[in-house]
Amino acid sequence: MKIDTRLAQIGSKSDPETGAVSYPIYQSTAFRHPRLGQSTGFDYARTKSPTRAVLEEAVAELESGDAGFACSSGMAALQTVFSLFQQGDHLIVSVDLYGGTYRLLERIMAKFGITTSYVDTNDLQQLEEAYQSNTKAVLIETPTNPLMMITDIRKVSAWARDKGLLTIVDNTLLTPYFQRPIELGADIVVHSATKYLAGHNDVLAGLIVTKGKELSEEMAMLHNAIGAVLGPQDSWLLMRGMKTLALRMERHQSNAKAICAWLAEHPLVEEVYYPALPDHPGYDVHNAQSSGNTGIFSFRVKDARLVEPFLRHLDLIAFAESLGGVESLLTYPAVQTHADIPEEIRRKLGVDDRLLRYSVGIEHPDDLIADLAQAFDRAYAEIT
Ligand SMILES: *Cc1c(COP(=O)(O)O)cnc(C)c1O
Repeated sequence: MKIDTRLAQIGSKSDPETGAVSYPIYQSTAFRHPRLGQSTGFDYARTKSPTRAVLEEAVAELESGDAGFACSSGMAALQTVFSLFQQGDHLIVSVDLYGGTYRLLERIMAKFGITTSYVDTNDLQQLEEAYQSNTKAVLIETPTNPLMMITDIRKVSAWARDKGLLTIVDNTLLTPYFQRPIELGADIVVHSATKYLAGHNDVLAGLIVTKGKELSEEMAMLHNAIGAVLGPQDSWLLMRGMKTLALRMERHQSNAKAICAWLAEHPLVEEVYYPALPDHPGYDVHNAQSSGNTGIFSFRVKDARLVEPFLRHLDLIAFAESLGGVESLLTYPAVQTHADIPEEIRRKLGVDDRLLRYSVGIEHPDDLIADLAQAFDRAYAEIT
């Protein structure tokens, strides 16, 4: 069955007793045992809960994995995954990393003796140089945010497998609709489901998908032991959002392409970062591993003085953090999402004071372009 169909049908056949098409919210945390030594399959909601279980099964299937785990946020999902590791272990991670993941690694995991090297994960030489005898895993974001760097998942997971390392992919920006890392060789997929999967800027959630029996059992233990699980109401909201994922991703993509083409020609814009543009350095690799493009992209304006008035004059597009929702949000990474990454690293990467990141919503592209155009015009008038 095609992924669009599977998405629309999430949970629709999971309640044969009542025939409910929208799977119910089971709020109960406790489940009665029929008799000693028997269970309905549910005992206590932290371990397993009916509404969450339908979501977890759905995401495991969508990502071609063996087990899914729903967490209270994307960071909770990453913390649960990082709990696979122990004191003395070392990780290799994409250098243009989500700021919250960087903070978790540097402020929390480091306290437990887990060290991290940040490299361009698409460069095998950099991976080889970062590799140590205690390295346990590679964590990839592709595309990265905000610089949209691309990593070849097939190449890196083959390299990692050869060395006995796990490959973990944060697939938040593309979702299984456009990219399925496990099919390309990854062992674990992580999502901030807060973003595209939920899609409406109204649910905080994280998901983990594992491949392989042993890894899935280990993750189930960690998920239950740590307890950062997703509640039934949010599990339901997330499934409700995922039913329209295919439609939304297509529109996010077409809007992003139209706006990037317009921005690339704009006299106040120096550079546009979007892997669907043929001159993007990761264009071929991206197309070989993904069936489409995200609605996130970044652009660098020619003059840093434009940023403040540009953001102030945006009318329709909201100046706000987060991404992946139906509403357009535009952020200033250097002071918002990436403020936790040291300035020296940020500058080296190119996350500077002229870089803006746009998460395109599903509004009509003409309205979005008109808003950007008037904000540029008014910002330019103010600084000249
Ligand atoms: C937002 C985000 C996270 C963190 O997820 P939360 O749901 O905010 O906890 C992790 N990775 C990426 C790529 C993200 O965009």
